[in-house]
Amino acid sequence: MILLKIVFLILEGEVIKMAQFIIETSARHIHVTKETLEALFGEGAELTIRKMLSQPGQFASGEKLEVVGPKGVLKASILGPVRKENQVELSYSDARTIGVVAPLRESGDVKGSAPCTLRNPENGKEVVIQEGVIIAKRHVHMTPADAETFNVSNGEIVNVKVVNETGRAIIFGDTVVRVSPTYALAMHVDTDEANAGALSGVVYGEIVK
Ligand SMILES: [Zn+2]
Repeated sequence: MILLKIVFLILEGEVIKMAQFIIETSARHIHVTKETLEALFGEGAELTIRKMLSQPGQFASGEKLEVVGPKGVLKASILGPVRKENQVELSYSDARTIGVVAPLRESGDVKGSAPCTLRNPENGKEVVIQEGVIIAKRHVHMTPADAETFNVSNGEIVNVKVVNETGRAIIFGDTVVRVSPTYALAMHVDTDEANAGALSGVVYGEIVK
């Protein structure tokens, strides 16, 4: 089966392309619960869709909040749909700017992470969250079929080489493979990581062992 795939790929001249995936840069963003959304925007409030994202069903909303820390404030978009837990994903630079010491975590792993205040700049309403601020571990989303193609499994840690010529050649170690049928193939890095590799425009990566 795997041999057949390789032969097919060579015949199609698609060897390189099929072995690569897009690397997307996630700017700082916020996921909120329905309760937090209503506390900040009013009862029955819903997120408006500004732009659909690569992961199926996920979108950048038109709603922005201020993330307030002991030393500063940064604005960030809310990504939808609403979730079961609040989560604020910052870069290390962002966290330093607002004076928050946030742990490096996989998305969704917020227990015992850093606190902050979320504020709606339009009406001044605030919600204090006791945990939820993290620095997201870089990761590659893939479907089970992709995982078979790349010969990796959920939770595996891989190295990803950026294949574009950026002038800042870089291999990202400690990259988590996240496999789910609900995902689409894409790697996510934060703005610090993108800047470290001078990533801009459409950039591709490949797994190097
Ligand atoms: Zn992601």
